[in-house]
Amino acid sequence: MGVPLSIYLHIPFCRTKCTYCAFNTYTRSEHLIDHFVEALITEINIVGSSKPGQRVHTIFFGGGTPSLLSAAQIQQILDAIRQQFDLMADAEITIEANPNDLERTYLTKVRATGVNRLSIGVQSTNDHELKLFARRHDNDEIVSAMSAARLAGFDNVNLDLIYGIPHQTLDNWQWTLQQTLMLKPDHLSLYALGLEEGTPMYDWVQQGRLPAPDDELAADMYELATQVLGENGFEQYEISNWAKPGLACRHNLQYWHNDPYVGLGPGAHGYADNVRYSTILSPQRYIDAMRSAPLPHAYEYPRTPATDEATMVDRANEISETLIMSLRLTQEGVRWTQFKERFGEDLRDIHGSTIDHYAKHHLLECSHDRVRLTEQGRLLSNVIFRDLV
Ligand code: SF4
Repeated sequence: MGVPLSIYLHIPFCRTKCTYCAFNTYTRSEHLIDHFVEALITEINIVGSSKPGQRVHTIFFGGGTPSLLSAAQIQQILDAIRQQFDLMADAEITIEANPNDLERTYLTKVRATGVNRLSIGVQSTNDHELKLFARRHDNDEIVSAMSAARLAGFDNVNLDLIYGIPHQTLDNWQWTLQQTLMLKPDHLSLYALGLEEGTPMYDWVQQGRLPAPDDELAADMYELATQVLGENGFEQYEISNWAKPGLACRHNLQYWHNDPYVGLGPGAHGYADNVRYSTILSPQRYIDAMRSAPLPHAYEYPRTPATDEATMVDRANEISETLIMSLRLTQEGVRWTQFKERFGEDLRDIHGSTIDHYAKHHLLECSHDRVRLTEQGRLLSNVIFRDLV
């Protein structure tokens, strides 16, 4: 029957721009949201009708700030997906949200649409760090958001945190972890701060107004988190992700297994039928493209009038991409038999010498059923991945 599909929906609007953010997101554009939802539904109809009957097991509203959508808009989008796809009864449906959009009434309505997983952008529980990031919330709002989420019936909540923040000490980070654990999340995603060109934070570091990130300190923070979260009942299943047993994010697992997903909305990325593609960045151009889409019209799946760039992924690249992504799965790694079933060849016949080399240096660990990164290997994963391409 094949692997079911995942759907990523990019909601490219934010009230304000965070100082470290390089995502495709726009401020002062909320007047476009109604037209954007219409366009997104058109895109869902196009991609659904170009390959009818596909089973879908995860949907992810990402951004930007998807919690700027009303519950009615979320309902309309999900209704369109249900009409065009075979949405599985146990599908995981996630929405990313900012803490200060999360009141109980809103969340109760969102939960009633079928959204069953909430991912809250906490980033830090330290108000000074939140100010440096120009986040819209403070720590009190994080606490209120979490309590509203539980009261609204969300029993699967992820919190995103950032570490390696300028001026952050190991003690600050430990405090953030402790405060976050007191909120009793089900899942945690921890990201090292990356400085992206074109962001205010990048400029401040260049100008010497902020210290440059300290990679060694960030590595210590990562190790500390691994230890603290392990002691608190979290299982690490991916380099940056920890979950309570059974609550790993199924949508993200789709990416790491290199399984198919369609990406809809401005600046979304997708990978389906061996085509890797991205869509138009600008919300207005996206809306215009959807409005002028000749309908009915058969588009070549997974392309739509919003597709900007698309490349065919050949077998060699599919193998490299699958390895690199699956090795991020710290426990699961790459199973020998699954690899052979998918590609018809033994992984050892393709990359045996590279695997042996890194196994000898204790960066990879081979067992009877799989190969995976060791703890040390996780810190040097980029070097290993380079050799597997
Ligand atoms: S809320 Fe998220 S997407 Fe929006 S500006 Fe901040 S980091 Fe970027």
